[in-house]
Amino acid sequence: MSLLEVLTIPDKRLRQKCGKVELVDDNLRKFMLDMVETMRAENGIGLAANQVGVLKRIITIDLSEVEEIKRQENFYPLFLINPEFTLHSDEKTYFNEGCLSVPGSKIEVLRPKAIEIKYIDFNSKPQKLYDDDFLARVIQHEMDHLEGKVILDYVSKLKRDLIIKKISKEQRL
Ligand SMILES: [Zn+2]
Repeated sequence: MSLLEVLTIPDKRLRQKCGKVELVDDNLRKFMLDMVETMRAENGIGLAANQVGVLKRIITIDLSEVEEIKRQENFYPLFLINPEFTLHSDEKTYFNEGCLSVPGSKIEVLRPKAIEIKYIDFNSKPQKLYDDDFLARVIQHEMDHLEGKVILDYVSKLKRDLIIKKISKEQRL
C-alpha cells in the first residue's frame, strides 16, 4: 500500500464533480486500500477520492475510534462506491465539521440527522445503509465532496475568502 497526497483548497480538483465508477477491479481495490491508509495516516475519519486527486465516486470511512455504537465486526473501514441518497430525514442538526482539505478550520454545518444510501461495496455488491448518528453526518460530508462541494460552501463568501487566503498563505510558507 502507499500513501497518497491529500489536496487542500483552493485545489480545483476539490471543486469538480466526480464520475461514476463503472468497474470494481483489483486496481480500484488497491486504490481504495491506499485511501484508507492515507486517511488513517492523516488522522482523518472520512475521505473522498477527489481529495487525493481521483475524480471518481468513492468514499472511505472509519469511525471505529470515535463511535460509541457497537457495529458488527469488520464494518469499518467502510467503502462506498457510487453512493446515492435514498432518504433524508426532515429533522436537521448542527455539527462543527473539520476537513482534511480545509486544514485548521471548523465550520458549523446544518444537515439532515438521518439518511439512507445505496452504494456498491468493496466486493462489488450492492448495499443499503441507514444511519441517524455520527456516521450519517460523515457520509453527507463526504458525499458533498463528490459533488465538488466543501464545508466552506456553508459560510458567507467573505468568511470563505478569508479562510482560503489563510490556507494558501500557510502553504506558501
Ligand atoms: Zn472533507
